Amino acid sequence: MSDKLATAWAATEAKQLRLIALQLFRCDEHEQHDDYRDQCGACVLKGYLSDSAKADGYDESEGPNYAGWARCYVQAERTVPFQWFGAFCDSLTSNNTAYANALKRDIATWGVRFAVCDMEWPKPQIKAPHATKWAV
Ligand SMILES: [Zn+2]
Repeated sequence: MSDKLATAWAATEAKQLRLIALQLFRCDEHEQHDDYRDQCGACVLKGYLSDSAKADGYDESEGPNYAGWARCYVQAERTVPFQWFGAFCDSLTSNNTAYANALKRDIATWGVRFAVCDMEWPKPQIKAPHATKWAV
């Protein structure tokens, strides 16, 4: 690890990443129908766990069963639920350094906020870029 700090994405890149992330969370048509939720990435990203994932022993504390979920939350500026705080921190120290470093750049761009309990309020926020200095 060097002492180089994570750099925010360029404005055009950040805009594109954010637009994609916002779309990933969209699934307005079928919120109440589990039959569709099993095939819906947005529902999984928001924490829906399919019966098959449960049967496989997926641990909900690991975060959503969705690759790259931590980056999606930061890019979409969504609050990371309380129960996924540890999993989010694990993403920052992942052996997948390309992913961890990209996540740090996301945080340098948008900041990150976590729910401090299961309630919606309060929502502490680390604001980017001044308050967020990640060594990469
Ligand atoms: Zn859905």
